[in-house]
Formats: sequence, structure tokens, C-alpha cells
Amino acid sequence: MDKIEQIVKNIDRYDCIIALASVVATQQLYSEFKSASESSAEEFQPISGLTNYTSTLCYMNSLLQLLACIPEYISILSSLSREPNIGPNSTISTLLSILKRINTKCKPGYYFNASVELERQIKSQVQVEKNFFREQQDCSEFWQQINRLLEKEYIITPKEGFNHASEIINSEMNGSVPFGDGIVNSKKSNTIQYIRWPHSFTTIRKLKCTICKTAKEDRLEEYQMLSLDYSLKRSAIKTDFEISLGEYFAKEKVNVNCESCTQPKLSDSLSSSPESKLCSVHIKEVQLAKLPKYFCFAINSQIWTQWGGLKSHQKWTYPDKVNLGPYMFYPSLSDANYQLEALVVHYGNSGFGHYFTLRKVDGVWYECNDRVVRKVQSQSGLGVRSPFILMYKRID
Ligand SMILES: [Zn+2]
Repeated sequence: MDKIEQIVKNIDRYDCIIALASVVATQQLYSEFKSASESSAEEFQPISGLTNYTSTLCYMNSLLQLLACIPEYISILSSLSREPNIGPNSTISTLLSILKRINTKCKPGYYFNASVELERQIKSQVQVEKNFFREQQDCSEFWQQINRLLEKEYIITPKEGFNHASEIINSEMNGSVPFGDGIVNSKKSNTIQYIRWPHSFTTIRKLKCTICKTAKEDRLEEYQMLSLDYSLKRSAIKTDFEISLGEYFAKEKVNVNCESCTQPKLSDSLSSSPESKLCSVHIKEVQLAKLPKYFCFAINSQIWTQWGGLKSHQKWTYPDKVNLGPYMFYPSLSDANYQLEALVVHYGNSGFGHYFTLRKVDGVWYECNDRVVRKVQSQSGLGVRSPFILMYKRID
């Protein structure tokens, strides 16, 4: 018993050093980001801190803090946990109890072992690569993996997405809400049930041949996060986020096969490949078809240069509010306003570095940095040098 206590004590001390070091590093690297003046010791904190014994689990801690910001996500887990096939030892129930516990008011400095609990649960359910939890993972990829795991646990029959634009249009016309509303949806045929996450959205991709003007069938794709690349452009009036967003939805030219073009292009006549003869320039356009309540953006800070991919260390700006209306497929929904609700910050390189979360609780911003939870001086979540995931909440 003494021995175990000794080990726990040592782990604790080690973890403490890591947590302290990361806080010091954060403060030094991002001096624009100051802690609010010391609050009185009696004051309760609205969020619990999370331990990070191995110093590699910050990706999991930061994700858990992000998920804890989405009441609709928690309510989905809550309704799923009441399903007859979901037991108290399921990943759904485990994650639910972790998120509830994170959001429970507690004494200042309180923290608990959420990631280890989740790790143990995942390992009991699925085969995990040997070093998966010993190495730092990509926080956004880990979220996808968690969601797939939850879906697998719940879904009896495989999920079937919308395949045709008309289906989405019809469902919009029938008066259903145009964004994930935090409920578990079942399609008309009772055999297929799927989880509609409050952060999942649909895009519509259009392709039109520039030669014969034939349009390909529109393709609908469902995502949980939109990946934005760093743009090399800079603007005095737009944030870097807005520039990257504009570039994402801009029309682009792509070379694809066209079944309707019967005349091979002259330049291709020497080519031996039959496909290349039918290739023509198409205009590709992507628009938003179904909006989520929470819009998440994964920010890719890699910049491609002649030397290959490099992580940008340039400060990347983003707005507190954004209107996604201009990128919508439905002109009737001209405004789609979102406001920053939480963000995951990452510094370092892929596989090495540190993640932490900034989240808003009753209008006050908190930094959740493993076991450290502290109020942030700023009235917004703006000013972080390298955001990794930005989560905006629909406000209209
Ligand atoms: Zn064509």
C-alpha cells in the first residue's frame, strides 16, 4: 500500500511540474494572453481541471473541455445512454459522466483523472495500437475516432447519408431545422437510425464543364469539421480566418472527365490514354447545404513551400463573429451568424507540443490547461497566436 501511495505521489509531482511548465511556456510565448487578476480563494470555479500524468494526454484533455462546451452533445449522450443496449460501462455512459463532471462547479484548483478513465474505457472496447495513448495524437482526428466509436456502439444498422440534393431540399421544405439540433434522428424508415451531431453539416459540390456546359450531379458530403489552410494573402480589413474561408468556398478549375464532351481536345489527340481525351476543365464550386448549431474549423498551419510543408509561426487572426450566409446554397437563408464559443490551441509540431482549450462559461472566458483552470483577462477568445480548432455557435 505504501509503495502504491509513493508511486501516486511521484506521478503527481511529475504531472504538476509538466502542468506548471506548460503554463509558464504559454504565458511566455503568448504574452498577449494574460490571466485575470487573482480571484478570491473562496470563489468556486465552474469547470474542473484534468490531470495529465504522462504529459501526452493534453490532446484528450483539450478535446474533453471542448466537448463539455456543447450542451447538445451532452444531451445526445444522455439520451443514448438510456437506450436498452447501452450499459453503464459503455463508452457513451463513460464520456457522459466525464463531461458532466467537468462542468460541475468545484473548488479552485480541483482536477480529476478524466483522460485515464476514457483511455481505459476505449481500450476495453476496441483494439488500440500499442503506443496510441503514450504518444500525442491529433486532437481533431481523435474527436472523429471518438464519434465513430460512439456511433458504432449505438447504431444497429449502418448510417445512410443523404445522396441526392432533392432529399435535402425536401427536408428543408418540410420545415425541419436547417442545423443539427442536438437530437437523435431516425429516418422515415424505422430501420435506419443515426446520430446527428450538433456540429455536423453538409456541403454541396457542383461541377460544370466549361466546354459543353453540362453539369454533373451535385454531390452532398457530410462533415464534422471544416479544414482551413493558411493563406499566404494578408488583408488590412479581413482576418486570416475570413481570407482562408473565402478561398475555401471560391470557385476553382479542375480537370475531370466529361461524358458529354464528344470532341477530344486537340492537345490530347496524341495521348494514348482514352480517359485523358475526354478530360475537360470544369468549374468546381462548394457551398453549405445544411448548417450545424456549432461550426468547427480545423486550422491547418502548414504552409507549402519549395522546401516542403512548414508550420507557420506567424500570428493567425480570426473574428469573434462570422456570417456564413454568403457560402450557403439556399439564398433565402441570407444570414447565418456564428459567434466564437471555444477554441483549442496548439503549439509545437505535429506529434509534439501542447494543447489546451479556451472556453466561454456564462460569458466569461476560461483557459483550461490540463489541471489548471483560470479566468482569462480578455473579454473574448481572440488573440491566440495559433488556434487549432475554432468552434463557433450559431446565434440567430
Ligand atoms: Zn463537357
